[in-house]
Amino acid sequence: MTKEELMKEAIRLSEENLDNGGGPFGAVIARDGEIVATGVNRVTASHDPTAHAEVSAIRAACQKLNTFNLSGCEIYTSCEPCPMCLAAIYWAHLDKVYFGNGKTDAKDIGFDDSFIYDELTLPREKRKLPAEMLLDKEAIRAFKMWQKKQDKIEY
Ligand SMILES: [Zn+2]
Repeated sequence: MTKEELMKEAIRLSEENLDNGGGPFGAVIARDGEIVATGVNRVTASHDPTAHAEVSAIRAACQKLNTFNLSGCEIYTSCEPCPMCLAAIYWAHLDKVYFGNGKTDAKDIGFDDSFIYDELTLPREKRKLPAEMLLDKEAIRAFKMWQKKQDKIEY
């Protein structure tokens, strides 16, 4: 399939999802022009705030390919990824992102991710979400154990 055909499928999924109780978002993960897996937004339908189309597609693609590394694959998403999905795309090592709608289009219909993008640029103490370090001397034990572990799978 061409990249336009793959994006058309992501867009078709975003439209179809409205009839299935989800938000207007769809994503396709492809390798060498073949669809590996798809995902749609299931936040409200699944009571899962992380069930964005891209994250759902990444989970499905990893299950299908039996891997945690999707290098060699590309993602086609009906909307520019939010910070969570963008981070997930980095973690999954996808090669490239194609997006249909831009994040300002999403903001115009009430999906405003820009405040999270803005928060990420602020120092921790200036963010709206309070966060404080707690029991760091105990938490570090697992890191030291990880460093010493001989049979670990690096990722
Ligand atoms: Zn997202």
